[in-house]
Amino acid sequence: MSLNNTINDEVPLDHPRYESLKHRHEIIEGMKKLIVAEAGLIAHGRGECFDYILGESTSENAKEAIKAAIALLYHAKHPVISVNGNTVALCPKTLVELSKIINAPLEINLFYRKEGRIEAIKKVLEDAGAEKILGIDDTNMVEIGELTSNRRNVDPNGIKIADVVFVPLEDGDRTEALKKIGKKVVAVDLNPISRTSLWADITIVDNIVRTLPEMIKIAKKFKNTEEEKLKKILDKFDNKKNIQASLNTIIEYIKKQKKDAFKILKN
Ligand code: ATP
Ligand code: MG
Repeated sequence: MSLNNTINDEVPLDHPRYESLKHRHEIIEGMKKLIVAEAGLIAHGRGECFDYILGESTSENAKEAIKAAIALLYHAKHPVISVNGNTVALCPKTLVELSKIINAPLEINLFYRKEGRIEAIKKVLEDAGAEKILGIDDTNMVEIGELTSNRRNVDPNGIKIADVVFVPLEDGDRTEALKKIGKKVVAVDLNPISRTSLWADITIVDNIVRTLPEMIKIAKKFKNTEEEKLKKILDKFDNKKNIQASLNTIIEYIKKQKKDAFKILKN
């Protein structure tokens, strides 16, 4: 994809929206390689919009949610990371790195199962160093109740037996279904009021491209932390308050932009 200091020979490194354009480009390239579904482009756009009004940075409360998420994932007996096309197109390396550190397998779970997509996603993850990927053997999947979409099919050695499922960029229906069958859910979603955000046990309101490196950092830090301490972090965490804090971040950001835009508009 990108050349050394440009995106597609078109966007220079010093472009004010370089980072955002780079990720947009990764999503487009991912679609060309079947990794991302067409609807994934639109989902990314919705994410961009929320990131814009969150100030495109990881808030302090998102960092708190990340700590609680790592505590829960370490506390779990069978943690699983459920991945879709957008996540793999944006951050294959950090997904694999996190999976290895916290010892949680990656399971491919797609809404749109176009022919060749699973293979394309599998290849990207393998190229990024993944050794064991679940959800790839169609003949060996089981159904979870409460759901009618393709995503009801899960791996018997993964989500089926998982107690904690980490779902970066999830659909609300499935988050709800996972909750109804008794799983604890950790979600990453830039929209603090999506159904996913509201249903999850721990909602990290942040961009997945920033969240995963922060999760890796915290996972390394917590690696040998005693169970008691992890439990304390979990007990202290309040998802409702955390979502409210994200909404406040948006409100404050908009207020500031309103002032700043007013100054520019005056001239
Ligand atoms: P829900 O089904 O949970 O109510 P939705 O239907 O509005 O949500 P979906 O299309 O199901 O949205 O899922 C896309 C979600 O992923 C959106 O909420 C969007 O904000 C979020 N999203 C997109 N890109 C990113 C990203 N890079 N990091 C984090 N979240 C993202
Ligand atoms: Mg949805």
